[in-house]
Amino acid sequence: MPKGKIIKALSGFYYCLDGERTIQCRGRGVFRKNKVTPLVGDEVIYDYENEREGTIQEVLDRKNELVRPPIANVDQAILVFSAVEPDFSTVLLDRFLVLIESNEIEPIICISKTDLIEDEKQKNEIFAYADDYRRMGYEVRLTSTLEADGIAELLPLLNDRISVFAGQSGVGKSSLLNVLRPELALKTSDISAHLGRGKHTTRHVELIPVGSGLVADTPGFSSLEFMNIEVEDLSYCFPEMREKSDQCKFRACTHVSEPKCAVKTAVENGEIPKYRYDHYLSFIEEIKDRKPRY
Ligand code: GDP
Ligand code: ZN
Repeated sequence: MPKGKIIKALSGFYYCLDGERTIQCRGRGVFRKNKVTPLVGDEVIYDYENEREGTIQEVLDRKNELVRPPIANVDQAILVFSAVEPDFSTVLLDRFLVLIESNEIEPIICISKTDLIEDEKQKNEIFAYADDYRRMGYEVRLTSTLEADGIAELLPLLNDRISVFAGQSGVGKSSLLNVLRPELALKTSDISAHLGRGKHTTRHVELIPVGSGLVADTPGFSSLEFMNIEVEDLSYCFPEMREKSDQCKFRACTHVSEPKCAVKTAVENGEIPKYRYDHYLSFIEEIKDRKPRY
């Protein structure tokens, strides 16, 4: 039986992308058999009724499942942080990175609005941060939708996977989506000059093909609380610490007050930026303060 990927769910229909074709499917069989509600992003096995219509028979196992937007099998998050307006904040960036990594989603850092950088000093600061995060192992791209800068460097990263945009409001997520996929802008331009909060009222999310990849048309990660992360797991969400932790004296080292800690040594000799470690410590405190949930 043919296999497809749900790219849109609307009014009881699931639109399954199978190669070049989109098949409009009903989900009857699945509700009966798997007792699962299909999600956008799901890989499914379906049955043809005719050229353009079918029935979903089975939802294949999910790799992960986001709540907002509701999408399954998200591979990566494009984490958009503006260089200015709002100002670049490493503590907020690190918070997003932890949340994304803890969902086993690969983050890509996109520093947006580079055209608004005012002087050399500001530019050097932003570039230094970009270098820091690259050294930690992250992909970093700098973009300006206003000057169409950096878009060509971002595009190839979207191929062959499901991506979702994330980041604070006002950083330029919608603007980037519009540049990557002009049809989307056309579709929404009759509602408003540009996509933004409120207008694109999202009862449903849609995956839009960009290159050979799929991108969610609705940005995600609204909750920024560390609800499902434990103290001992936190350092696994910091790739530069993850890499060092097997050199710590203690196997379960949390890199706080243990002796012979490779992470602390790396912070002391500048291999790991001090601000990253400080954020790590403050996140640890935050997780410890969390009331136990029964
Ligand atoms: P979102 O809330 O993250 O989706 O942000 P928007 O895409 O709605 O953008 C917020 C504001 O920033 C809008 O006024 C955009 O025109 C502006 N903006 C977005 N990208 C850029 C950029 O690259 N350069 C400049 N100067 N402004 C931008
Ligand atoms: Zn350690």
